[in-house]
Amino acid sequence: MPPPAAQGRKVKRHWLAPLLVVATAALAAHLAGSLLPITAVLAAGLFWELLQSTRLARWLENPAANPPRAAGRWRHLFNRVFHRLHHLEKELRAREMLLEAFQTATAAFPEPVLLLDDKEVIQWYNQAAALHLGLRLKGDRGQFIRHLIRQPAFIAWLDGGLEDLAEIESPLDPAITFRVSCAVLDRHRRLLLFRDISEMQQAEAMRRDFVANVSHELRTPLTVLAGYLETLGEDGALELAPIVQRMRDQSSLMQHLIDDLIELSRLQTQGITGRERQVAMAPLIAQLVERAEELSGGRHTITCDADTQYDLYAAPGDLESAFGNLISNAVRYTPAGGNIAIAWRAGSGGGAFSVHDTGIGIPEKDIPRLTERFYRVAKDRSRASGGSGLGLSIVKHALNAHQATLEIISRPGKGSTFTARFPAHRLRFANRRQSA
Ligand code: ADP
Repeated sequence: MPPPAAQGRKVKRHWLAPLLVVATAALAAHLAGSLLPITAVLAAGLFWELLQSTRLARWLENPAANPPRAAGRWRHLFNRVFHRLHHLEKELRAREMLLEAFQTATAAFPEPVLLLDDKEVIQWYNQAAALHLGLRLKGDRGQFIRHLIRQPAFIAWLDGGLEDLAEIESPLDPAITFRVSCAVLDRHRRLLLFRDISEMQQAEAMRRDFVANVSHELRTPLTVLAGYLETLGEDGALELAPIVQRMRDQSSLMQHLIDDLIELSRLQTQGITGRERQVAMAPLIAQLVERAEELSGGRHTITCDADTQYDLYAAPGDLESAFGNLISNAVRYTPAGGNIAIAWRAGSGGGAFSVHDTGIGIPEKDIPRLTERFYRVAKDRSRASGGSGLGLSIVKHALNAHQATLEIISRPGKGSTFTARFPAHRLRFANRRQSA
């Protein structure tokens, strides 16, 4: 096709000829003193235009045929329409092929894939979706997805705007769990991808059971050993005393590790452990401060600032364990002479329990990994101070079970602040007499 500027020049030329004819007819009419020549020319022109537009309309009924033959302006118009249609047809065919390839590929997916429009109406789905989600092979297109998959977790995910991931059971087989994610294609379409995570979940459950079983099995022999070590120290030979002491320390470390492993696996399998109730924060914090002083043995300055207006609705054991771990860490990772500040603040935005220390601090790169099992920044120091490497992992799981989050702010050499943030729905007005 000629470039737009050349086309423009051509169009102008096409107008020139009819204008010249009309001007000549007008001149002839003027000279002859009669309207006949100009009327005849205009009538002929009108007839010509009608004829060509009729041909155009007829051709457009079957644009695959060659365009009608014509001259001048109409030939130019027919050619442009012909090329434009040809171009659009090619583009359409390419898109159809792409769509077909996409549908063939996703139809062969072994896992369900679903295309939704912006009104949550199903536009397309593959065979696996029909097989695992209980949809009719083709008959459920055009249906609202929430009428077909009614699980509360899925509905809550739809209501939440399809963010993050949802986990749902297959409506046909409760042993199959799918993790659902959403890919936004454009403003009007989104693709739901279902991934079968049953095997992964089984493997994870097996691993958890294994750790829990081994820990339980080790607990009894270790208690027996620790008991013998206690008596051995009493009337043992003097030269054996340091060896017995070391054995006692190591067995106490192992007992601590096993207790933490059992607690962690309980939190991972059951979520909240024990019954939830209103936990009076004032006595709990007083008890935590006492414990901190005991652990510190007078090496630190410990302060406390607690808002006694609000309590927490929680499982008391989990709360004590999470807060206790944060306090024990502050004591263990703060050199003698440092400060430890315990605080509880609550209001309409929720509650925050924080432990601030002026200890050794944590490098920035380690902060995101601290709640992983056995992740330690200073390995020797952790072991020497009796750490199992599971403390913060327990804190994270205990808080998650209460919809709370752990925030860590730290600078090496300056100190750290660990804050547990609880949502407002977990707060309760304190019972004055109880907390007094
Ligand atoms: P550990 O039993 O080793 O203390 P945790 O899970 O409680 O295990 O903590 C993980 C790691 O985080 C610790 O080994 C330590 O390096 C670091 N850490 C935790 N709390 C503090 C703190 N208050 N100050 C400095 N480092 C800390």
